Amino acid sequence: MFSSLIKRIILKRSSVEANFSRLTVDIVKSGQSRRGLGIILSVEFPEAHILSQQMDRELTGKQVTVYTLQHYTKLQNLGFINMYLSDFERLCSRTVETVISRGNVIQVKFSDAMNLILAPEYGGIILFHKKEHPISEKFHLKLGFTDQTALTVTLTGMGIIHALADSELSHSYVYQRDFSQTASPMDENFTLDSFSKALLGKNVNLKTMLVGKDAVVTGLGNSTFQDVTYRAGIHPKRKASELTEAQRRKLYDAIRLVIEQRLQLGGKIQFIDFYGRRGGYEPAMGSGMAGKICKVCGAEVVKLNLSGGQCCICPGCQK
Ligand SMILES: [Zn+2]
Repeated sequence: MFSSLIKRIILKRSSVEANFSRLTVDIVKSGQSRRGLGIILSVEFPEAHILSQQMDRELTGKQVTVYTLQHYTKLQNLGFINMYLSDFERLCSRTVETVISRGNVIQVKFSDAMNLILAPEYGGIILFHKKEHPISEKFHLKLGFTDQTALTVTLTGMGIIHALADSELSHSYVYQRDFSQTASPMDENFTLDSFSKALLGKNVNLKTMLVGKDAVVTGLGNSTFQDVTYRAGIHPKRKASELTEAQRRKLYDAIRLVIEQRLQLGGKIQFIDFYGRRGGYEPAMGSGMAGKICKVCGAEVVKLNLSGGQCCICPGCQK
C-alpha cells in the first residue's frame, strides 16, 4: 500500500517535470502569452513573496471547512493537480499555521503536517475573499474557512496546486527545486562573488544558469531573464563562461535591481495580488515587445527561440 503510494507520487513528479519543459514550448508557440493568458501573469520570486506575506497575514489561524475543485481534468492529467481529488479532504478541519515562499513556490502549512503547495509560475491568480464578497465561478480550487472567508486559486498557464503531507514533499518537483540549498535572489549569501564563481567556467548558456532546476539562483523565470539580460546589455545566447568580470557584475546588479523594484512596487504590472490589486513594475524587456523600438538605441526588438522558450532582445544593446 505504502510503496504503491510512493510509486504513484514519483510517477506524478516525473510527468510534471516533463510537462513543465514540454508545455513551455507549447504555450509560447500558441501565442498565449500575447493574448494575456499564460506567461504574462507569471508568478516568479517577487510575486510569490508578496502573495505569501499577504496570505500569511490573512490566513494564519483560520480553519478549513470545505474545499471545491472544478475545471480540473486537464490539469490533473498533466500532474498539475493531485491525481486523487480526495487528497484535498486532508485539508479540511486543518488550521493554517503559516504561509511561506521560496523561489516561485508558495507553501501553506497546515496543522497535522499537511500542506498546500501553490506554484502558478506560468500564470495564475490567488485571491482572498471576505464573506460579503461574491466569488466568481472562475477558479480551480476554493478553500472555505470557518469565518466564511475563502481563498481561490486559478491557474491561467502551467502551475501546481498540490495538497501534500509533509512526508510527500520530497516527491514534489517544484518544492524540491525551490526549497533547496540554491541561493534566493535576496539572500545574504547571494553575493556578486558567489554569483561570479558559480558562472565561471560553465560552458552552458545563460538561460540554463539563471532559470529552471539547474539555475544558480532560485525564482527567476523567462520574464525576469529577458528583463535582466537586456538591462545588463548581454545577449541571452552567450555562454556563462564567456562573460567578462564587468558583464557578470552588470548581470548581478540587474537581477538585484529588478527583484528589489518588483518587491517595492507590488510585482509586475500584470500581476494580481491576494487582494486583487495590480502590481506597478513595468519590465524593460519582455514577451510581446517584438517589433517595438528600443528606447536606449532605437533598434527594433526581435524575438529569438531559446532553450524551449522565446525571448525578446534588442540586437543593438545586447551583445
Ligand atoms: Zn537597444
